[in-house]
Order: sequence, then structure tokens, then C-alpha cells
Amino acid sequence: MQITYDFHTHTKYSHGKGTILDNAIAANEKGMKGIAITDHGFSHPAFGMKRKRLAQMRKDCVEAEKQTGVKILLGTESNICGQSGKTDVLATDYENLDIFGAGIHRFVYYDTPYDYLRLLGDTIFFSITKIKPSKSLINYTTKVYVNAIKKNPIDFISHLNFLVFCDVETVAKACADYGTYLEISTKKVHLSDEQWEKVFKTDVKFVINSDAHSPSRVGDMKLFNELNQRVDVPIDRIVNLGDELPRLRFNEFKKTL
Ligand SMILES: [Zn+2]
Ligand SMILES: [Zn+2]
Repeated sequence: MQITYDFHTHTKYSHGKGTILDNAIAANEKGMKGIAITDHGFSHPAFGMKRKRLAQMRKDCVEAEKQTGVKILLGTESNICGQSGKTDVLATDYENLDIFGAGIHRFVYYDTPYDYLRLLGDTIFFSITKIKPSKSLINYTTKVYVNAIKKNPIDFISHLNFLVFCDVETVAKACADYGTYLEISTKKVHLSDEQWEKVFKTDVKFVINSDAHSPSRVGDMKLFNELNQRVDVPIDRIVNLGDELPRLRFNEFKKTL
């Protein structure tokens, strides 16, 4: 099995290794139809994308698409900044982006001191000590995801539960309700097989993404193929295996503006 569209790839515009053209060439070599360039969100102090470089990114996308014939969407993997559900994509950014991914990351500018306490302090404590995370932390993190999905036209949630703790089923249901896809990441495994089984029982639709930080990983399917051997994956609810570009919530939303 091979995805036709990889909606989560990084480039040198954040901390990926290749250029936009390099990612497009890699996709073309795998016979893929398209990719999204989703570099890290603007609020990441170390390697977030810069708004002032968006125009150049767009030029690079147009040029790479022309050279390779691979459809290229310009987007971002935005940072969810806290319980309010705010992300670092502003309404004024909408016209410059084609696709809106979102995830929780460490060491970004969070919304409030309480969000720092929860997303940095508590989360790191439970990650390092391996003590079972408290119910209140799980409830908090679940709310972070759900409010982000409710309040923003997010296309996909990246690497759910990566270095955080949430109720995956509740987040998957929120995705299903609002038309946001849940990512099955082939970069790392973040959910246990039991958690995947629970998520697969909801109505959510999925995108398989590489989260490639180097061109050679664009379209990588290895971890997905392994998951698919262990767990009964609802292939018919994976939207990026066909020839057509799937419906994207952000794009639909922008048409209503
Ligand atoms: Zn990420
Ligand atoms: Zn990423």
C-alpha cells in the first residue's frame, strides 16, 4: 500500500533537511500525486516558520510543482497553544495557506501560565517518571485538543498523544464531528494497539502521514504497514490512498468566508 498524498512533510523552512523541491522529487519517485509542506508553526521560537518567508515558500511550491508535476499544498503544522484551543495560525494567515495541520509540541509560546504548568511541567513530569498520568491532566489535554478542533478549521491532528496524555477516543470523536482527520503517523508510534482499536471504532477519518524531516522519508509507509498487520485498520476511512485530492476542512471553510 502507498499513500498518494502525504500531508505532513517538513523542509529547511523549519528544521527539515531538504528543500520543497527535494520533497516533491521524492514524492514523484514514489509515484505519488501530491504533498503538503507543513513546517512547524509560527510560535515555535527555535524552528517555527516565519511569516515573512511565506511568499518565498509559495514561489518554491509553484516551481517544484511545475518541475515535478506533484501537487504541492502550502500549509503549516501549527502549535496548539493551550486549553482555549487557540493555535498559532491567525485568521490573517488563512489566505496564504492551503492546509492546516495542528499538534501539541513542547517549548512553544503557550497561551497562559496554567498551560505552561500543564503542558510543560506536569506532562514532562509524567513522561519522565513513567507514573500513570493523573486524570485531571488527561482531562486537561483532551480539552486542549477538542477546543482546538472546535474553534479552528483544522485539516488534521498530527501525532496524537506524542509526549502528551489525552483521552484518544474523545479526541477522535471530536475530529469526526468537525471534519478533521486524525493522522496515523509513520514517523513514530504514539498510541498503543489498544488505543488504536478504540479510535478505529469511532467514525473519524484518517490520513496516513510521514511527518518526514528528510526527503527520503516522504510517503514512508513502514510503521503503518506494521500496524495494519497487528490491528484491523478501517482502510476505507483513510482518505489519502486514492487519486483524488480528499476534501479538506480548511479549504471548505475558506470558501464560506
Ligand atoms: Zn509535530
Ligand atoms: Zn511534523
